[in-house]
Amino acid sequence: MIANGISLHLEDAVAGFEQNDRRNLNVKTKSGMNFTVDLVILAIGVRPETTLARSAGLEIGERGGIRVDDRMKTSDDHIWAVGDAVEVRDYVSGEWTIIPLAGPANRQGRIAAGTILGRDFTFRGVQTTSVCGVFGMTIASTGLTENTLKRLNEAGRNIDYEKVYLYPGHHVSYYPVPSPIAMKLIFSTEDGRVLGAQAVGEEGVDKRIDVVSIAIQNNATVFDLEEAELCYAPQYGAAKDPINIAGMIAANAFRGDAPLAHWEDIEDTNAFILDVRNPIEYESGHVDRALNIPLDDLRSRIHELPSEREIWTYCSVGQRSYYAARALRLNRFNARNLSGGLHTYKTKGGKL
Ligand SMILES: Cc1cc2nc3c(=O)[nH]c(=O)nc-3n(C[C@H](O)[C@H](O)[C@H](O)COP(=O)(O)OP(=O)(O)OC[C@H]3O[C@@H](n4cnc5c(N)ncnc54)[C@H](O)[C@@H]3O)c2cc1C
Repeated sequence: MIANGISLHLEDAVAGFEQNDRRNLNVKTKSGMNFTVDLVILAIGVRPETTLARSAGLEIGERGGIRVDDRMKTSDDHIWAVGDAVEVRDYVSGEWTIIPLAGPANRQGRIAAGTILGRDFTFRGVQTTSVCGVFGMTIASTGLTENTLKRLNEAGRNIDYEKVYLYPGHHVSYYPVPSPIAMKLIFSTEDGRVLGAQAVGEEGVDKRIDVVSIAIQNNATVFDLEEAELCYAPQYGAAKDPINIAGMIAANAFRGDAPLAHWEDIEDTNAFILDVRNPIEYESGHVDRALNIPLDDLRSRIHELPSEREIWTYCSVGQRSYYAARALRLNRFNARNLSGGLHTYKTKGGKL
């Protein structure tokens, strides 16, 4: 967005509007800034319009939507409700939620119509599968985000999860022109069940999130993603599709073959940090306390590493550092791979 000339003002909020002499608007923010603008578009969320439902005495849920059962029936036996105004269960967390999206609204309409006519239909719930286009890029998401998981755990749930970051090409690298997809996959550390995924990129993003979406709806695990058989020809994907790679990284972590570490923990760890890129890459910017041993030299220089400390390996996106972590583990070092490499570190505001 910044590259396209959008000026972002984060960590601030609109405090008020006023019309100025030239019939423009002044927008004031909480931090004291003042912007003169021609047009204001407020995109600050969606709230269900439940006046009619309330006046009919229907039960309203904790999120302010019309409460319905899994057949879309309200608290009145003769009234069904669907769409933006109802509260439904989140398929992954089981919590009540409001999802103003057209897909769930349409599916709910079919469930309601079916049950009214005597069919035994039930609504599975929503998993917030959504997609958005921004300046030629696609942003898509399905299932729970890490923020939602943190919020649920703070509220007393106990959902143990792990996450992987990866940056695979949308198709094989030898076919012109591959475009990277930035992906994040979240899964349960209890049973490997897929909990959520988000992806951003120019090509092939919606396809990958749709695959994860149906995986989530079928309670699939990272082992199912690892084994997923997806269509492949060079212009469409890869023999190891980004979905397979996400599943493989997650399954490797789940099985304990290639445990992950995360950049947000780097300040607080006393792990030894190992940069396995080549020296030119290292010189162009590296984590302060990292030692550089290029992957190709690792076996000959392995004696330079402290055997009593945990070692966190990194490279630019996490592939070479995965090989390094595996080699170290096979040599009895306690090594972890920093998920997503420097790419993820930089997007999290990490300094080089
Ligand atoms: C600009 C915009 C873009 C969107 N893009 C997407 C998208 O790309 N993907 C996506 O998944 N979702 C999108 N949505 C959301 C999607 O449109 C809604 O989730 C979906 O339409 C909800 O369906 P609904 O039946 O609950 O409500 P609606 O489609 O809003 O239908 C409600 C109907 O009830 C009528 N009505 C209201 N009050 C009364 C009354 N008192 N008496 C009689 N009739 C009444 C309204 O006129 C309306 O026709 C978008 C929404 C907007 C506003």
